[in-house]
Amino acid sequence: MKIRHILLTLTAMVALSACAQTQFSALEQQQISIEDPTLFEKSDAFTIDFASGRDKDYSFPLPVGKAKLMSDYNVEIETTHGDAVKAMFAGVVRLSRHSATYGNVIVIRHGNGLETVYSNNAQNLVKSGERVKAGQTIAIVGSENSRTFCRFSMMVNGSRINPSIIVSLESHRLRPQLVLFQKTANWKVNVSILKEPVVEKPESVQWWSFPLPGAKVISPYGKRGGRRHTGVDLKTVNRDNILAAFDGEVVFSGGFSGYGNLIRIRHENGLETYYSHNSKNLVKVGDQVKAGDIIALTGQTGRATTPHLHFETRVGGQPVNPATYFDLQTYNIRLESFNKKRDGYVIKR
Ligand SMILES: [Zn+2]
Repeated sequence: MKIRHILLTLTAMVALSACAQTQFSALEQQQISIEDPTLFEKSDAFTIDFASGRDKDYSFPLPVGKAKLMSDYNVEIETTHGDAVKAMFAGVVRLSRHSATYGNVIVIRHGNGLETVYSNNAQNLVKSGERVKAGQTIAIVGSENSRTFCRFSMMVNGSRINPSIIVSLESHRLRPQLVLFQKTANWKVNVSILKEPVVEKPESVQWWSFPLPGAKVISPYGKRGGRRHTGVDLKTVNRDNILAAFDGEVVFSGGFSGYGNLIRIRHENGLETYYSHNSKNLVKVGDQVKAGDIIALTGQTGRATTPHLHFETRVGGQPVNPATYFDLQTYNIRLESFNKKRDGYVIKR
């Protein structure tokens, strides 16, 4: 198990004002970044379990928007004019007002200990002190220099945290994991993941799993320049979980030239799956894996210009378009490429 620590300090936050255009003024930031007096009252730490219970009740601020993480941990979520901004979790509006530089700002303090900030709104629809539900419309998105976007951030105890620890900015989904927030010295909050995402495997899909749920195809199988692209390139975020597509045996796990860190799994009926450019392989040769097992973390090792998963399906050693087995838009299995047998499915040959 891997524990990632992110240290955040208020001073670091102020020091990050390189990109002055997207920053609040010192006075504005001071009003937003105040400590929550009750948060660390009883203990120096609290956890949020995004995998279960009421903490799962959640909405992405602009469900159809395109999110971009800025260097100061603000997220700009671009969308279309007139779109509704939603509260991420249930909570109480701590601040709802106009700021000369950044338009209308809303700060919500949530029951789970987090705070979320929504700015550049054309119109705020909630007042300070108002109770909101997860997914409730709180504002209408605004425009600036002909771009329509919400400037969004997450805070703990007045310090901005990296929101991509909590939510996948690509799939807009909450990462189903247990997160520990620890108060350390002055103004510091440690964020660490105690329990890695648990992959839910409903009974009906137990025999297969899409290797990178929520991924976007950034390069399809087939011709690429003068060469043949022998797999499909899938992207989410760096160090996302790569899942075994089917039950099988690991026949290779290690570095392999342009593939970088590669895992090869042998399945029934001559099928092999390849998972490459991994930042970390989590299985070794000889391991028996089940569909949906976490086998590696995405990365950029080998010949790769961005962190992604290069996924191949091979039959008898020859590359076959992965779209034969998976619908790459809906992440569903293509049942027509498999034969049912008594205890499962095998590929048609
Ligand atoms: Zn590739």
